Amino acid sequence: MSRDINNKFWDEELETLPREELEKRQLADLQEIVKFAYDNAPYYKRSFDEAGVKPEDIKTLKDIRKFPFINKTTQRDTQGVGSFLGELAAVPEEDVVFISTSSGSTGVPTMRQKNKKDFDEFQDTESRWFWQIGMRPNDRYVHALNFSLYVGGPDVIGAQNLGALCIWGGTLPSERLLFVLKTYQPTVIWTSPSYAWQLGEKALKSGIDPKKDLNIKKIIVAGELGGSIEATRKAIEDIWGAEVYDFYGLSDIFGACAAMCEAKDGLHIAENHILVETVDIHTGEVLEPGQVGELVFTTLRKHARPLIRFRTGDIGRIDTTKCSCGRTHGRIHILGRKDDMFIVSAVNVFPSDIEAVVREHKGITGEYLIRIFEKDFTNKYAVEIEKSADNPKSDDEVAAEVTAALKARIGVKPARVVVHPDGGLDTRSEHKSKRVIDERNLDYNI
Ligand SMILES: [Zn+2]
Repeated sequence: MSRDINNKFWDEELETLPREELEKRQLADLQEIVKFAYDNAPYYKRSFDEAGVKPEDIKTLKDIRKFPFINKTTQRDTQGVGSFLGELAAVPEEDVVFISTSSGSTGVPTMRQKNKKDFDEFQDTESRWFWQIGMRPNDRYVHALNFSLYVGGPDVIGAQNLGALCIWGGTLPSERLLFVLKTYQPTVIWTSPSYAWQLGEKALKSGIDPKKDLNIKKIIVAGELGGSIEATRKAIEDIWGAEVYDFYGLSDIFGACAAMCEAKDGLHIAENHILVETVDIHTGEVLEPGQVGELVFTTLRKHARPLIRFRTGDIGRIDTTKCSCGRTHGRIHILGRKDDMFIVSAVNVFPSDIEAVVREHKGITGEYLIRIFEKDFTNKYAVEIEKSADNPKSDDEVAAEVTAALKARIGVKPARVVVHPDGGLDTRSEHKSKRVIDERNLDYNI
């Protein structure tokens, strides 16, 4: 049976469930998964016993608050303990069909396993996001994400299951990727926001006008915050003449756990798979929906490696009101990584705030580098930018303008703004760009 391509929903019943019904399903799954974790994963048995909690204590969704948190350190400490799959594993190795790992950018990479059901549900969720942004079987799709041990790699199967013609691009060099875009005229591509922008610029420089010579209608971005920063999204949309949609993935769960819809007001999260809590970053106290804090996820249906109250390290908020698109699953708004946030004069500053200013400002290229340093026992930040080749203003004028714009947006001015010539910053990497340099003493904790 083929789907009605005019239906905006991939799974209409699920996506538009009244919240009461959605929460009823969440509770049934939560009770089941907490018991399953307790009965099968050595770590949960031990930690629940130590905390004096039992799976039967879960009578309502709020009862999850009685259970202990886990975080990245828990994952590292339990990895490989007792068995190859470690103490968070709740199914034997013969049931496991897939593993991916974290990038290891903040330590030893940790391994994440899925059984067949976990994997199939993962892909069905990815199909749902692709359908949500308007991908249909007549689309040609380029999956330009890393395939090596990366949870975002298999998302291409979600597009294939939807019926799109899929091009497994991976991390092709730009010249070859542009050749693919020009020759095969695909309509949808997924990559990181910084790379989407740079690829557009590269195309223009090599005489290809993405708007006229290419056929890209939709660009999915993930892996960096840019897709949720309106100025960055618009900058990419302007180069490509395409719609940009932000996706949010977590290597612990799915390649994309949440995705924008046409309203582009936050990202719908798959609440049938993930129970979201927001907690105070310092005390761990649970906050009300809508308040900003650290997002804590409990996976409701993943059996190979359940995550019960996983502190993601991402700062954001959840909006559980119904979206104008008709979907009832909550929307998350991510502000940044807890580790990237810094405090200047008692103000929380996220690199994404600085990016928004730099991308909006006229007469500069939009490339930037942030340096965080300490002077007189106080945090300071400096921003380096590039003046566009055709901007007649002096460097001092440009620096003064950008300083004022940063002060207006963030509330505290940068210690300095350094102006480089067009192309003078070394931030144009092929995939994830390193744009924040922390020069503070490493022992210094926020
Ligand atoms: Zn929506």
